[in-house]
Amino acid sequence: MGELYPVLKVSVVIPVYNEEESLPALLSRTIAACKQLKQPYEIILVDDGSTDASGNMLIAAAEESDNHIIAVLLNRNYGQHSAIMAGFNQVSGDLIITLDADLQNPPEEIIRLVEVAEQGYDVVGTVRARRQDSWFRRSASKIINMMIQQATGKTMGDYGCMLRAYRRHIVEAMLHCQERSTFIPILANTFARHTTEIGVQHAEREFGDSKYSLMKLINLMYDLITCLTTTPLRLLSVMGSIVALSGFALAVALVVLRLIFGPAWAANGVFTLFAILFMFIGAQFVGMGLLGEYIGRIYTDVRARPRYFIQKIVGEKNHINNQEENE
Ligand code: UDP
Ligand code: MG
Repeated sequence: MGELYPVLKVSVVIPVYNEEESLPALLSRTIAACKQLKQPYEIILVDDGSTDASGNMLIAAAEESDNHIIAVLLNRNYGQHSAIMAGFNQVSGDLIITLDADLQNPPEEIIRLVEVAEQGYDVVGTVRARRQDSWFRRSASKIINMMIQQATGKTMGDYGCMLRAYRRHIVEAMLHCQERSTFIPILANTFARHTTEIGVQHAEREFGDSKYSLMKLINLMYDLITCLTTTPLRLLSVMGSIVALSGFALAVALVVLRLIFGPAWAANGVFTLFAILFMFIGAQFVGMGLLGEYIGRIYTDVRARPRYFIQKIVGEKNHINNQEENE
């Protein structure tokens, strides 16, 4: 099976932000796991502006010969997903695996990811078995996963787990996306044709705390939603239409009832006032939704994502070159 879509080189990309306690174990376990691969490999560690010893530890590790480690140091903290993108820019392998530095995703799973990718998948995701996070984080993820599935149509159970494998052409497509805020697993899925998911172990964080504060999590959630769709903007007009229509229906009902029961029934016009108010509020929302539609379109244009990516052109060998010569 693996013969059909062989992986020639594996690149592991790991973002690191203040993980000095985890690093020794991370490095040794990742190297040990990679050594079991039949392919050549490289391990790209991106220091996301750490303020502890992480940066220097990475440099030291990269300077050792023969361990295939590349250290990329960013000048300040840009966030996990930007750090991974910086790593993507340096990869030379044709299968790229991302991994967290805190050892919550066991590096030992790399081999299985490679094997599954060789069956012909563009993206291999993972589902965390017995996820070791707080109840709050788990339920938040559940809701978000449901929304993503609705929007992308790709059924993946777990977008939060960063232990993932991407084929080179997916990574290149992602690098062509110019927007500043991205959520990599979703972005990847928008370019993937064959995706799959495997179950992996999930460990508790051994050292330090999560590098995501509540504010950063909220920020990530908005990145995720805006990376995905502009549907929330459209919801404004939908909601407005519903409010306006029900206001109108209420007004009609009131007039009818008023005619039947007389002026005293309608509390001397208070009800009518509400009906009119609802209609206006609804109209306002529709107006906002309309603005939203424009903003949504501006947003997609400003983002300037390429319209498509060609994976391969077959036939008429130097077709493009010839064309250039003719001109
Ligand atoms: N990380 C990063 N920059 C940041 C925050 C986190 O590079 O600004 C890295 C961090 O070092 C880790 C990974 O992203 O390798 C996931 O972070 P963390 O484990 O804190 O997130 P959680 O597991 O709580 O979602
Ligand atoms: Mg973690």
